[in-house]
Amino acid sequence: MKKEMLTIFNHDRNIFKSKYIYPVVSRRSMGLSLGINLNTNNACNWQCIYCQVSDLTRGKPEKIDLDLLENELDKWLDNIVNGNFLSECASHKVDFKDIAFSGNGEPTATPEFEPIVKIVLEKINKFQLSNTIKLRLITNGSYLNKENVQQGLEHMKSVNHEVWFKIDHVNPKEAQKINRINLSIASLTKNLKSALSISPTIVQTCLLKINKELPSQHFINEYINFLEPYAYQA
Ligand code: SF4
Repeated sequence: MKKEMLTIFNHDRNIFKSKYIYPVVSRRSMGLSLGINLNTNNACNWQCIYCQVSDLTRGKPEKIDLDLLENELDKWLDNIVNGNFLSECASHKVDFKDIAFSGNGEPTATPEFEPIVKIVLEKINKFQLSNTIKLRLITNGSYLNKENVQQGLEHMKSVNHEVWFKIDHVNPKEAQKINRINLSIASLTKNLKSALSISPTIVQTCLLKINKELPSQHFINEYINFLEPYAYQA
């Protein structure tokens, strides 16, 4: 494996030449995040205007080679847990924080989502990581009601886990402009409830200033009113 320095500014998924697994030093995770890219063809069902995936296309992921994914994950975890990866490749002292389903598109679009979760859980147990890291799903939420995704999420309950659920807008016109999707509030509500019923869920939102215009107060109110019933009460 070629040695590269990881920083919070370089999230290139290809510098270590693995097909599915990539390490990043993540500000959001506050440490090393081992990403699993299930969209190696850069295909997503959304087309967000701020998306940083190169050559993003609209579509579905390619079939996943489960053996290769397992093999890569095993090697990466061995290198991080038993080897010198962290000290040699991170630009400053970082801790291993999570394994994250993320990557170059929507991870739950793959029909193999459930068996992949099982593979990841086996590795978390093999490397005795269940008390030290989280398993995260970073998602636009649009497939969370699919049976195989629900089954995968059920399996995730056996370890410390989280769903990071993207909601940029609750206004269909704005969602068409920003995410380039036909947003259905009924589907969004159903998908969000699915996430909340199974997992601690963090809503992620990208607020944009477009042509010098900030989001309007009307937009902010719509957004808050939608999410208020689900907010965590301390
Ligand atoms: S949902 Fe994520 S991967 Fe898909 S287009 Fe939006 S930012 Fe890119």
